[in-house]
Amino acid sequence: MPLVLAGPRPAGGRGRPPRHLADLPLAERRAVVTGLGQPPFRASQLSRHYFGRYTDRADEMSDLPRAARGPLAQALLPRLLTAERELSCDGGTTRKTLWRAFDGALVESVLMRYPDRVTMCVSSQAGCGMACPFCATGQAGLTRNLSTAEIVAQVVAGARLLAAGEVPGGPGRVSNVVFMGMGEPLANYSSVVAAVRRLTDPVPEGMGISQRSVTVSTVGLVPAIARLAAMRLSVTLAVSLHAPDDELRDSLVPVNRRWPVAEVLDAAWAYAAATGRRVSIEYALIRDINDQAGRADLLGELLAGRLAHVNLIPLNPTPGSKWTASRPAAQREFVRRLEAHGVPVTVRDTRGREIDGACGQLAASSLVSAASEQSP
Ligand code: SAH
Repeated sequence: MPLVLAGPRPAGGRGRPPRHLADLPLAERRAVVTGLGQPPFRASQLSRHYFGRYTDRADEMSDLPRAARGPLAQALLPRLLTAERELSCDGGTTRKTLWRAFDGALVESVLMRYPDRVTMCVSSQAGCGMACPFCATGQAGLTRNLSTAEIVAQVVAGARLLAAGEVPGGPGRVSNVVFMGMGEPLANYSSVVAAVRRLTDPVPEGMGISQRSVTVSTVGLVPAIARLAAMRLSVTLAVSLHAPDDELRDSLVPVNRRWPVAEVLDAAWAYAAATGRRVSIEYALIRDINDQAGRADLLGELLAGRLAHVNLIPLNPTPGSKWTASRPAAQREFVRRLEAHGVPVTVRDTRGREIDGACGQLAASSLVSAASEQSP
């Protein structure tokens, strides 16, 4: 069911997205504010509006002198993303938004409300350069990296909806953020790490979400995993493994030719050791491709005794793909064999499938025509 949509379109442009307060630590926001001839505490006031009340509308900032509202908002709160299209399912508790950035780049985010939590799945890049053949985002290639504030804006938008009671279930908050939307987060390392800080630092520095409730998912960029481990953040690392052997993984996750399974897992264990956080091993079950009992055993051997948890994802359909999800019996046997190795395993739900909002289905380019049909 298509819902609401597009506000006024921001002027097109090239180069970097406009600077936004979410790109900057609070100290730098203060410098911008004083540069405008305002007292430094205005930076905290603006930040509280954005990170605590989820608004960037100057006319709602009654604690700021009227004459200062416009210039401050213009300097630090430009509108970065415009909702082009929104789809929902599960009675409105799963919602996918297609966003248009200042330069026309399109990204998607998905809000998923469960009885005990609300998870925002955010994009870190427009498109993706990793070219995994079973993932819709990977088919179109990379458009560009998102800025820190463009990533944060996706979460703030979800928080605004929840706070306003616009998601069935009553007013709520974003409790979890997963970097599992479009893009490879660790290929946009500095913006993603800064976004994690903005999301998890307390108001007014940031949004105040718990680091433990943030998950960064990667295809396995080994040097970047090591860098992230050294930062000692309490975020969960998810590794999209999908195969326990290099021969198969080379074809499912092409970057495996650069960093093979053993190196990726070594980096994951080093991450677990540095942070004390259990690593999530993502494994899309693809019928007759990677779901054989022998591969379950091999995976079980690789993971036995490690600080790891396997998240099996029944393959979600993507356009033009010949692959499909595993048969139920194969899936059950896969789970059983992992458990026999003492490896904790869960099967992920397929939330959002009907709206192409599930894992691997985010592909903004295929929505462009649909979106323009619906835009005013
Ligand atoms: N690039 C990062 C972040 C994307 S997360 C990464 O790959 O980890 C999206 C998750 O969904 C990844 O685990 C990805 O491998 C998985 N995925 C991609 N296509 C899928 C599909 N068609 N069905 C199920 N899972 C898929």
